[in-house]
Amino acid sequence: MKYILPILCLILISSCKNPKEAVYSEELLKSNYHYISDNATILEAVKANVNDTTFVSLKEYGKDFFYDMKYATDANFLKAKVYDCPECYLRFKTVKALINANLAFVKQGYKIKIYDCYRPIDVQKKMWEIVPNPIYVADPAKGSIHNRGGAVDITLTDFSGNELDMGTQFDHFGPEASHNYKTLSAEVLANRKILKDIMIRNGFRSFASEWWHYDLTNASNSFSVSNFKWNCK
Ligand SMILES: [Zn+2]
Repeated sequence: MKYILPILCLILISSCKNPKEAVYSEELLKSNYHYISDNATILEAVKANVNDTTFVSLKEYGKDFFYDMKYATDANFLKAKVYDCPECYLRFKTVKALINANLAFVKQGYKIKIYDCYRPIDVQKKMWEIVPNPIYVADPAKGSIHNRGGAVDITLTDFSGNELDMGTQFDHFGPEASHNYKTLSAEVLANRKILKDIMIRNGFRSFASEWWHYDLTNASNSFSVSNFKWNCK
């Protein structure tokens, strides 16, 4: 009984604290990146027989991402929900590279927001049935790097989760979404450049017609098309 009051006080005090200043600090980084700051997680991963090709959930390794998994809702160009639940699974090698990229973004005051990650080949087939047009959907006969766990669709946000202006929405199928389209504001071009430069420095390559899509370099050689399915709780 004597412990209840102090515990209640602690809960009250902690819930009334001012929200953390949204600025970069080593403290913030350590609390959010147990993979980076604590090698024990890597050891855990090795112990559990996780290797570079194992599918892992991003949120189990990197704590500092925002998520808006577009295909787990019907707010996408297909106008259909094709995932049972919103999860971001990738090959472990892709996760490590993405966390390193996000670390570089955080140091500049940004965070990655995730739109799509690994996509089982059965989901690719479902998308192809809805929109059988290779301009919009990769033909499941070939598969895409998303089906191999080596691609992500992302944007950047500030620390409060407000998206940076990238000139178009995600999955905008027009020339304005291309990296080669330069008739955009200086701010948009600068935002796209921040995204692209840091992703490339961390082992990804961009895709000319979609500013949001990044493939891990050599992903098509390292990873095969998969139909691994994650569990929805
Ligand atoms: Zn993509």
